Amino acid sequence: MSQSIKYKLPDDNGRFGKYGGKFVPETLITPLRELEEVYNKLNDDPQFHEELNKLHKEYTGRPTPLTYAEGLTKYFDHAKIYLKREDLCHTGAHKINNALGQILLAKKLGKTRVIAETGAGQHGVAVATVCAKFGLKCLIYMGEVDIERQSLNVFRMKLLGAEIVPVTSGSKTLKDATNEAIRDWVTNVKDTHYIIGSVVGPHPYPMIVRNFQSVIGIETKEQILKAESRLPNYIVASVGGGSNSIGIFFPFINSDVKLIGVEAGGYGIDTDKHCATLTLGREGIFQGMKTYLLQNDEGQVSEVHSISAGLDYPGVGPEHSYFKDEVIADYYSVTDDEAIKGTELLSRQEGIIPALESAHAIAYLNYLMQRTTKDEIVIVNVSGRGDKDLNTIKNSLGY
Ligand SMILES: *Cc1c(COP(=O)(O)O)cnc(C)c1O
Repeated sequence: MSQSIKYKLPDDNGRFGKYGGKFVPETLITPLRELEEVYNKLNDDPQFHEELNKLHKEYTGRPTPLTYAEGLTKYFDHAKIYLKREDLCHTGAHKINNALGQILLAKKLGKTRVIAETGAGQHGVAVATVCAKFGLKCLIYMGEVDIERQSLNVFRMKLLGAEIVPVTSGSKTLKDATNEAIRDWVTNVKDTHYIIGSVVGPHPYPMIVRNFQSVIGIETKEQILKAESRLPNYIVASVGGGSNSIGIFFPFINSDVKLIGVEAGGYGIDTDKHCATLTLGREGIFQGMKTYLLQNDEGQVSEVHSISAGLDYPGVGPEHSYFKDEVIADYYSVTDDEAIKGTELLSRQEGIIPALESAHAIAYLNYLMQRTTKDEIVIVNVSGRGDKDLNTIKNSLGY
């Protein structure tokens, strides 16, 4: 992308080029418009940002550190590697950045009930957390398969006072939970705010979530300038719906920094068990947005797979689809096995056990680092910590 072009998307129709938009039942058009209006007003209000920043400082634990990864740097013996430490956020992942922003939004909208979908449970935990803090009723939709593989997070949400609604349709994972949450919202929109967990869904959600997650990139820019007096050469982040990646990418899109998103390759992208949406998907309409989508020849959404519940999603945020077409960012995938090895690598080299999602970004270093030189800098977004995945990791490594 030419550096002289000022990036200013989405447009007034909520589009990122041909992607995004608002493909929803008519009953949701008015609430989406209201949400957009209230959000835009808040976003222009310095007092709102002050309130959010104070909460981030005192509650989330921001700014999160940018850690020089000395062990990992020595291991690859190429570019210098830094880690952005979203694993140190309250509740263990970047999801709280969005949940906290949106709970303030729900209060301004005068809503008393909050619903959310969750895959890995990290978004559910973040939403249950902010609902507890702000005294709002909380309902979390979660696929039965995810309930089983993330039992600790299910218990966390219950302890925080949330009600869990098991979803038994489809693949019983994230996309099905999202469908149910949208259904609930259509019915109860009067008193209910829907907190979407990633940069997906109809406009204005992809924009709102991106803006709330951009705190990651804004801090990273300040921190790397302080540490190295220059911007990095590469930023690497995992892509499920795409919020931690957009969050760290966004302040860098008008620069020379190469932005790399890493998707879940599952059993391999030559099988049908993966979530490499941007690598192998085609344009389609899904959950209120036009975007790249894993679908069959009839346009039915595919059953996808990843070892990591947070990446197990057949769509992707519409802005990433735009980034891919415009080559603003590049997208690759790594397999389940590579992600497990990435988990072990970061644990051994840095004493940091990453979430399986983040481990996908770590694993991609095996491909990226050999293309780098010693005077270059790579930043990896460690989107979350591995506590929630310990059982899965243990079963895979067999020790
Ligand atoms: C949810 C989650 C992801 C994937 O979601 P994005 O919206 O793509 O960021 C990645 N890492 C962690 C730790 C998560 O909890």
